[in-house]
Amino acid sequence: MDFRQLTREQSREALTALGEKPFREKQIFRWICRGAESFSEMTDLPAALREKLSAEYSFGKAKVLLTQRSADGTMKFLLSFPDGEKAEAVFMKYSYGNSLCISTQIGCNMRCAFCASGLSGKRRDLLSWEMLDEYIECSKAAGEPINHVVLMGMGEPFDNYENVAGFLRLIHDPEGINLSFRNITVSTCGLIPGIVRFGDEFPQVNLAVSLHASDQKARAALMPAAKAYTLEKLIPVCAAHAEKTGRRVTFEYALINGKNDSQENARALASLLKGINCHVNLIPLNPVKETGLDTVSRPAAHAFAEKLEALGIPCTVRRSLGADIDAACGQLRKKHEEGALDENDAGK
Ligand code: SAH
Repeated sequence: MDFRQLTREQSREALTALGEKPFREKQIFRWICRGAESFSEMTDLPAALREKLSAEYSFGKAKVLLTQRSADGTMKFLLSFPDGEKAEAVFMKYSYGNSLCISTQIGCNMRCAFCASGLSGKRRDLLSWEMLDEYIECSKAAGEPINHVVLMGMGEPFDNYENVAGFLRLIHDPEGINLSFRNITVSTCGLIPGIVRFGDEFPQVNLAVSLHASDQKARAALMPAAKAYTLEKLIPVCAAHAEKTGRRVTFEYALINGKNDSQENARALASLLKGINCHVNLIPLNPVKETGLDTVSRPAAHAFAEKLEALGIPCTVRRSLGADIDAACGQLRKKHEEGALDENDAGK
């Protein structure tokens, strides 16, 4: 058992069972949040306790294996976990601060038609502490504080709900990193049971829902999960979430040439979202060779955005950050597996 997978309460109980005082747990938690790599580093613990803990628990660490830097300040990290699995995280600079996009699974089972992460399915879920390590290790590697986190890397957060919830509690903990829930966004392909539970348990965390089409048939063709969680069911759940939490829901819409980018598509999207407290994030598709799908031009993206705005739906066209460094979902890990990265990519 990895010590870092225990909740704080479980770890207090484990320490009590070892005959220790509860404040030891706080000391250890602080070390974890500072990125300690082993119990032996925790010099304010008695040596005997450090030895006991090392004998009883493993203490995994994720490591940054590769760093790619884009001219626009975006950095993409490939992390490796103790079992050798790899995931990616992306650091981005915005006017409001630095943001990190983290992965929640190794691979993904959702198999969206345009996405690189799902090309070969899910290998495993990431554990709460592994997601926390993405944050800790990428902050160290970036050399800058990170004050926003988006769960929009590889994986479907609500297909790994327990670990994602554990991660949100860890990163928010006031005795550790203390990241505000309002500075965190969780993105889902629309798994309704997850959205409902998340709304109850984390009403202050932002919700983003990947829509990509306003027509059920077109959406189901792009996103297999939409077959079970149809637009007819999903949209009212999102509207109810916005009402219940008092927070604006973000809808993500990847613009794909000839598939969902016409003025008529914009009109249909506006009528679908009418009356919902929401914001649409338009993402010109980051093309992935295997998918055969094309991106749209910037002018086409802006024409789509103008139509939506004119129909009363607030939206933005996402800046294309880090396109020169494979910053789209799942691309870096895939290249690494194919052995297609050269020496120059091996930063760090
Ligand atoms: N599984 C979650 C979160 C991970 S993907 C979800 O589906 O929301 C984060 C966002 O990137 C999603 O909106 C996803 O649909 C989008 N995305 C994936 N591949 C993309 C690509 N090649 N170009 C543009 N957006 C992409």
